[in-house]
Amino acid sequence: MRRIYLDYAATTPTHPEVVKAMLPYFTEAFGNPSSIYSYGQEAKGAVGEERVKIANLIGDRDDEIVFTSGGTEADNFAIKGVAIANESKGNHIITSLIEHHAVIETYKFLEKRGFKVTYLPVDEYGLIDPGDVKKAVTERTILVSVMYASNEMGTIEPITEIGRITREAGIYFHTDAVQAVGHIPVDVNELGVDLLSMSAHKLYGPKGVGALYIRKGSKLTPFMHGGEQERRRRASTENVPGIVGFGQAAEIAHQEMNEEMERLTCLRDRLIKNLLKRIDHSRLNGHPTMRLPNNVNVSVDYVEGESILLNLDLEGICASTGSACSSSSLEPSHVLLAMGLSHERAHGSLRFSLGKWTTEEEIERVLDALPRIVAKLRAMSPLLKNQR
Ligand code: PLP
Repeated sequence: MRRIYLDYAATTPTHPEVVKAMLPYFTEAFGNPSSIYSYGQEAKGAVGEERVKIANLIGDRDDEIVFTSGGTEADNFAIKGVAIANESKGNHIITSLIEHHAVIETYKFLEKRGFKVTYLPVDEYGLIDPGDVKKAVTERTILVSVMYASNEMGTIEPITEIGRITREAGIYFHTDAVQAVGHIPVDVNELGVDLLSMSAHKLYGPKGVGALYIRKGSKLTPFMHGGEQERRRRASTENVPGIVGFGQAAEIAHQEMNEEMERLTCLRDRLIKNLLKRIDHSRLNGHPTMRLPNNVNVSVDYVEGESILLNLDLEGICASTGSACSSSSLEPSHVLLAMGLSHERAHGSLRFSLGKWTTEEEIERVLDALPRIVAKLRAMSPLLKNQR
């Protein structure tokens, strides 16, 4: 049975062209970019070239791109870096209730150390109201962090509007754009952000490499102390093969973005429309139109998301529940709860995330399998019996 992978938001397969570009940097071009002889200088040159490709993908002209070990490190660096470096100006920091754990846990860490945190609410679609950001800002506010697009329910946040508010107030604005970069247009100047996190493995690059965009003149305390790499912003020998892979992936994403957005939006809408039609008591989570082209998140009443996933897996279909970020946790998703879903609905949620190798035939297979699985599980479901 051919497996169908519909969990591209968790991670993407590395593009064959990316692997090809990386390979020489493990062997013949293995140098340390800090070395002054030619091996080192070749590696240094490659890192510089890839930095430009990533800058091009996000409309960055002359600011900074600092390579990190992934999206989590970029988020930690941005938030802790700004908070610590600007503490003398104030200790109030703002974020939302629907952020990825990499942001939420960093805010909680700072909260325990005396920072005051405002967690912004969202509406039923998972949207943040920029008016709430404006109301939350005080004289002591130094940072706002709001994600660009949700990894769970795909809603795209009003970043430009929030950027206008933070610029006017003279405070730092960070966005976790891990799910957006390479998938939808991102332009740091139009958005008015000062800091933006990215991760290569979400856009067909390798795992373990990411980057933080830093607007020129931003004051951040380094997160990693040691050598003088990355203009002293981030110590440690550069992950040269990873960076080359990231750059190659960024270039491909840039070239193919418009076509991919159109193709995936069609597949996404076909899956949403037909799932809601074929499964009663089901509903879409997240915004119907302001959402990532590859994200489908539905709640199916009277069944557990985990049971559906296991049954889908038996049919060779890999998806994810919206209910847990790590599969070991059975807590309902903080994101879906923040949107006002009941615990039951949040437990019955499923996320399909589509990608480069998703076909119409695969979507049809899901549309055939899922209604059957739901009917079978509902026939056995105590949740449904209690309801009758
Ligand atoms: N932020 C968001 C929105 C994500 O979806 C993820 C990955 O799941 C991360 C941050 C963490 O990125 P990484 O796995 O590169 O650390």
